[in-house]
Amino acid sequence: MTGTPIGLSGPHCCAAMHDQVTFVCEDGHPDPEDCPDALVGFAPKFQEYGIWIHDGGSSWIAIAYCPWCGTQLPDSARDRWFDTLDRLGLDRDDDALPRTGIRRRTMADPGPRRRLTVHVDSR
Ligand SMILES: [Zn+2]
Ligand SMILES: [Zn+2]
Repeated sequence: MTGTPIGLSGPHCCAAMHDQVTFVCEDGHPDPEDCPDALVGFAPKFQEYGIWIHDGGSSWIAIAYCPWCGTQLPDSARDRWFDTLDRLGLDRDDDALPRTGIRRRTMADPGPRRRLTVHVDSR
């Protein structure tokens, strides 16, 4: 899908999606990944929709279709974003660049596993 980039405030495919991605929690969760009421987010920079993974991190699983109305969502521009940074010779970890704080996981790449720390009493 090409055309005008979608902003955070839309236009999104349906009212349910709009309500989700513009959701602002009033219970003291400034970041949607910390809020159990936030289900789906949108990253304008990447033109990417994703389902938040509420595991204490800041990951989501990118989605290709709207869960409510079934509309096909735009192709993620994430790869293009990083390709552009590489072409310009910019460091993708440069703090001067805008950050999304979002890491993407796929089912094939579930991300780092949490390690259980076991304390052994060695006395
Ligand atoms: Zn929709
Ligand atoms: Zn909340």
